[in-house]
Amino acid sequence: MFSSNLLATVSLLVMAVQATPLDESWLQPRDSPVHALFAKRAPSPDDPNFASNYPSPGATPGTDKLPQAWVDKLNSITLPNVSVSNPNNGYPTYADGETPSDQHICSFTYECTTDEDLYNAPSGIFALSFDDGPTDASPDLYSFLATNNISTAATHFMIGGNIVYDPKGMQAAVNAGGHIAVHTWSHQYTTTLSNEGVLGELGWTMQIISDLNGGRIPRFWRPPYGDVDNRVRTIAKQVFGLETVVWNTDSADWAIGSDPAYTHDGVVAQVNQWLSGSKDNGLILLEHESKDTTVAVFKSILPSILSNGWTIKNVADAFNMDWYVNSGKTNTEAITTMSVGSGPNTLAVMNSTSSQQSSSSSASGSASASTTSAAASASASTTSAGASRSSSTGTNTAAAAAQSSGKASSGSQLVIPGYIVAGLGLFTAILL
Ligand SMILES: [Zn+2]
Repeated sequence: MFSSNLLATVSLLVMAVQATPLDESWLQPRDSPVHALFAKRAPSPDDPNFASNYPSPGATPGTDKLPQAWVDKLNSITLPNVSVSNPNNGYPTYADGETPSDQHICSFTYECTTDEDLYNAPSGIFALSFDDGPTDASPDLYSFLATNNISTAATHFMIGGNIVYDPKGMQAAVNAGGHIAVHTWSHQYTTTLSNEGVLGELGWTMQIISDLNGGRIPRFWRPPYGDVDNRVRTIAKQVFGLETVVWNTDSADWAIGSDPAYTHDGVVAQVNQWLSGSKDNGLILLEHESKDTTVAVFKSILPSILSNGWTIKNVADAFNMDWYVNSGKTNTEAITTMSVGSGPNTLAVMNSTSSQQSSSSSASGSASASTTSAAASASASTTSAGASRSSSTGTNTAAAAAQSSGKASSGSQLVIPGYIVAGLGLFTAILL
């Protein structure tokens, strides 16, 4: 629900924008009050100090690395009362008496999904995605995708820290037409992190992807190891507008080379068996661009995907959703609209500059009105005992009750004219 403060804020924002017709060659007049909501930012990958724009790769960004606007937004939402989990070797546990598979926590590690999760693709659709890039294995994958004319049909869930090391690797995927999404900053079990830890893992990955793609803000994220619960889902959606994408089938490509039970031929044979099965539920197959062995699996299964009549789409297209929070269905579409979450909600403004921590407190503060609708989107719909994520158990299990096919954004659209800039000159970020 809109609060009165928020209504006033949004009204002022819209009025200010409408009252100032903009030349598309520039963001906002410098004296415009709205100008303070935006920041210029497009660090060059060729800059030897490129990495200095970001927290250190490989670790959860510290609280001193959090733009105030993100923190303000986090503090404005209502989180479900779910405790931070204990790692427990990949099977996070919760405080005494809390069951991770129940609808309150809804841990995907324990096969719980929500209505909001993107879990099953629509019938007949093969939602193509690759996690963990960019890596040394990525160029070979991108070449293969291009050769088969499916570059634009792939979603790349990228790790922010990996992008720091290889920004041009991410841009290669962008330039090929690939769809870029978030796989956190340092690939942690997100339910084990504090709220602020989750904030940094998601926010900074969104920031670097935006920086390298003309200010287009990612709309989808996938939790590393599938470790997500309702607390983390709520932060992702209500602070950043991110859709949580899990999977209904695990190729187990990641296990090749580390678990002797999984070989290339064995993994491919299992996936091919799934591909020849029912298409009633579409496939979201967990695959990786982390190693040559994982890329090799996709090369081997593509013929079966095609011969069995699956329609290959990236995750956004599979659900007929825009690719980015503030842009349409390509990497080149103009940034002209901004989704406003899952219904009326607040606006938060990330106002980062080259010094990364500075922000316009007055502007971001005024746009961070409180809301009370936070936890609604994360209500669990089902739990499942089916091991849908294991390559040894089949594609579709009881968790198919969580079918989310055809899910479309319920967000309203708020038109923000003219804040795309010719070329990649300016970084513009409005977040929800
Ligand atoms: Zn991963």
